Amino acid sequence: MASEAGFIAEGEWHPANSSRAIPATLKEENGRLVAESEGAVLAAAVLERIDISPRVGSIPRRLTFPDGSVLETRENDRIDAYLRGRRGSRGGLVHRLEEFHPRLIAMTIAVILLAATIYRFAVPALVEVAVLVTPPFVPQMIGAGTLASLDRTVFEPSDLPEEEQKAISEGFAKLAARSKGGEGGYKLNFRDGGMIGPNAFALPDGSLVLTDDLVKLADGDREMILGVLGHEIAHVEGEHSLRQLYRAAGVAALVMLIAGDVGSGVEDILTQGGALLALSYSRSAEAEADRRSVELMQAAGYDPAALARFFSVLEEKLGDHGDASIFASHPGTPQRQQDIREYANELKSRSGAR
Ligand SMILES: [Zn+2]
Repeated sequence: MASEAGFIAEGEWHPANSSRAIPATLKEENGRLVAESEGAVLAAAVLERIDISPRVGSIPRRLTFPDGSVLETRENDRIDAYLRGRRGSRGGLVHRLEEFHPRLIAMTIAVILLAATIYRFAVPALVEVAVLVTPPFVPQMIGAGTLASLDRTVFEPSDLPEEEQKAISEGFAKLAARSKGGEGGYKLNFRDGGMIGPNAFALPDGSLVLTDDLVKLADGDREMILGVLGHEIAHVEGEHSLRQLYRAAGVAALVMLIAGDVGSGVEDILTQGGALLALSYSRSAEAEADRRSVELMQAAGYDPAALARFFSVLEEKLGDHGDASIFASHPGTPQRQQDIREYANELKSRSGAR
């Protein structure tokens, strides 16, 4: 029997999910491995599709066929001799790795760690480079594209009375005049926000959107609205939304951007309104924008802590429901409100001392 053509080893065959054992012969026939019993084929597959357990001392080897059935054999040397014959000439490294799993596992872990490290450090670096080399038309394209797409899909024209819009715009201009971009660097847009509810956000080109619902939420507290707008101005100053967009755009898009190739695919990603609204800033970007709001409000002669009032109203009236609301991206935690008040007091006492 051992001299039979294609014979590899003797063993026991178990049907899938069964402990039933049938004495069987493992053979190679027409390029396939076949488990046979008295001339009947029990299971067959090409070598590549069979999972062969590694050799561990004299523990029987298990050859698992694609149908789930298993051939178990104690003839380890025969299996190894067969595998050497089949694989010896090609893929020596792969073969050795398969025999020595701990090394394979260690290598896999090393590769994953390396990839994670590249991701951790290379993506932020790529983002910074992309922000640096971004030509001015890109933020403009993103801003105009996003606003146009939101106007088509969610926004309606604002219902706010003209005088109300004018008063808010005047306050906004005072804040903008004290920011990096100056008054001309920003444009305030009033919209009925529809499903996005009480919200205010900034586009990378300096366009800000303020929804009617947010104005209504403020209930006549105009400084509170200005505090929010100061916060949004800070997001533009810090190029936070550009950074977030770039982070979300992925490595491929970043490389294309840095290479100066703003393809239509990248343009689509960057100008989709939803993409920008779905972003939330990092906690440090939020804290930076909060502090900047305090500074701008103070400089413009408003209550520097007005933003903290906004967060407490938001919390009180909206709770944490409304995923698309400003609350989702701007959780107004008590800690945050306290930080704003403390910084406002610090600024007040500093200007009082002068
Ligand atoms: Zn923010």
